[in-house]
Amino acid sequence: MPSAKPLEARGLVKRYGPIAAIDGVDLTVEPGDVYGFLGPNGAGKTTTLRILLGLIRPDEGEARLFGRDPQHDLPAALDGVAGFVETPYFYSYLSGRKNLELLAAFDRRGHERIDELLVLVDLDKRAHDRVGGYSQGMRQRLGLAASLLRDPQLLLLDEPTNGLDPGGMRDMRRLVARLSGEGITVLLSSHLLAEVEEICNRVAIIRRGEIAYEGTLADLRASAGSNRYRLRTTDNARAQQVLRERSEAADVILGGDELTFTTAEAEVAEISRALVGAGLGITALVPEELSLESFFFELTEGDQPVEAAA
Ligand code: ATP
Repeated sequence: MPSAKPLEARGLVKRYGPIAAIDGVDLTVEPGDVYGFLGPNGAGKTTTLRILLGLIRPDEGEARLFGRDPQHDLPAALDGVAGFVETPYFYSYLSGRKNLELLAAFDRRGHERIDELLVLVDLDKRAHDRVGGYSQGMRQRLGLAASLLRDPQLLLLDEPTNGLDPGGMRDMRRLVARLSGEGITVLLSSHLLAEVEEICNRVAIIRRGEIAYEGTLADLRASAGSNRYRLRTTDNARAQQVLRERSEAADVILGGDELTFTTAEAEVAEISRALVGAGLGITALVPEELSLESFFFELTEGDQPVEAAA
């Protein structure tokens, strides 16, 4: 495998008439990343992925997949790379297995892995049914199996959970996590912050065609600032005293049968130890308002609403 980074994009621009669908997109995906490409609808995620997969040409900028340019040498650039944009297309009157067989024959590889992949995506029991009768989630999973026929080192997935019910979303996320565990680097686009938080280690946030943030989720959380937490203990008045003595906790308010306070996520473990150390039992400690969520809303402010949870 080439030693270059799985994916690097610099200054990608794509215009449709007067509209810049993307306007100077930079991305860097490191080996082993599950990289979340996050943004509201219409922000430019699909356009970027289309360029990366060599489906359309950028007006400016360049991309490299393992050091190779999909615009100039697509077959070489896509060696070791697989993925799909939007819903993968299959022949609906053929079975899932037959569709994979056709793709493997076309690509001249992967035929021997079909059964294993059908098990992996949990379609082995439905492999001989017509794709026309598959649910959206099953089609997405078949799409993933189709991508895996190429035995990729890098997977590029455009909104792989879009249109799925909660169970389908969970299955797809687990699959992605599992593939990552097997050493495949993944870039997936999503408009769901919670999804990206759940499975990604790094993230790029795109807003109106421009990258508003790129980095680790941990750094993103840190730059998002403090969160507000709700706390219930066996003695809230005493807990209030303990929190007020600690510099990490701010705006401690006792009201009803609970306390609220503000702190950074990194301090929560220390605060809970201090409470327990003071002889208190914690019955609930939950984030009331996540700063990351509001930070994300701020970054994408003015765009269509982004769902914070799935
Ligand atoms: P979604 O999640 O809704 O697919 P997205 O982040 O993938 O959103 P894109 O599909 O990349 O966004 O679209 C970015 C912008 O470019 C949108 O304003 C879209 O209308 C526009 N656009 C994309 N493709 C075309 C095209 N072929 N012709 C004209 N405009 C386009």
